[in-house]
Amino acid sequence: MKIIEIFKSIQGETSRAGLPCSFVRFCGCNLRCRYCDTKYAYSGGVEMSVDEVLQHVSELGCRLVTVTGGEPLLQDAVYLLVDELVSAGCRVLVETNGSLPIDGLNKDAVRILDLKCPDSGMCDKMDLGNISQLRKVDEVKFVLSTRRDYDWAKSVILQYQLDEKVTVLMSAAWERLKSCELADWMISDGVNARLQPQLHKLIGKR
Ligand code: SF4
Repeated sequence: MKIIEIFKSIQGETSRAGLPCSFVRFCGCNLRCRYCDTKYAYSGGVEMSVDEVLQHVSELGCRLVTVTGGEPLLQDAVYLLVDELVSAGCRVLVETNGSLPIDGLNKDAVRILDLKCPDSGMCDKMDLGNISQLRKVDEVKFVLSTRRDYDWAKSVILQYQLDEKVTVLMSAAWERLKSCELADWMISDGVNARLQPQLHKLIGKR
């Protein structure tokens, strides 16, 4: 598989935000979100075997592992890697951009589905069929740039009763929307979602 980087930092999003975490960043992405902060993952990377990735993760000494990208589900080897990480006793979070089917992933992995809102420019690429695959342990994330995005996210939550199925996360896209503004909307509407700052942006890459 083609890997951009493997490193240890603090998980910046999801319900595990704030926890030390190892990250495996896959190369390649089929989307081009307007706010993308990981353009360096679009190409390049190093070819690694599953065993090499496992060895590297083991050396980092952290059992919370996030598999991310780019888009990790573009490479078939991700399924075996997640299986092996789970077998090795890791708590595995798989962050995926919502455009590809998630049903092939190991059932003990947590799926973090990043549903792209209209002002990401990628909303029409979403595979909303994934919502029926979600379990209580999984999470749905909306990164919001505008009020239009917020209203779209609210309509999706309502239509699919998402907040009854999974943890729903809302965050303001960095330098596009203020968290305090988003907080006001959420409080006013009583949205059953968790506001999260993009912690990794606040602390920078460690
Ligand atoms: S899915 Fe992620 S990596 Fe791909 S373009 Fe969007 S923000 Fe960037």
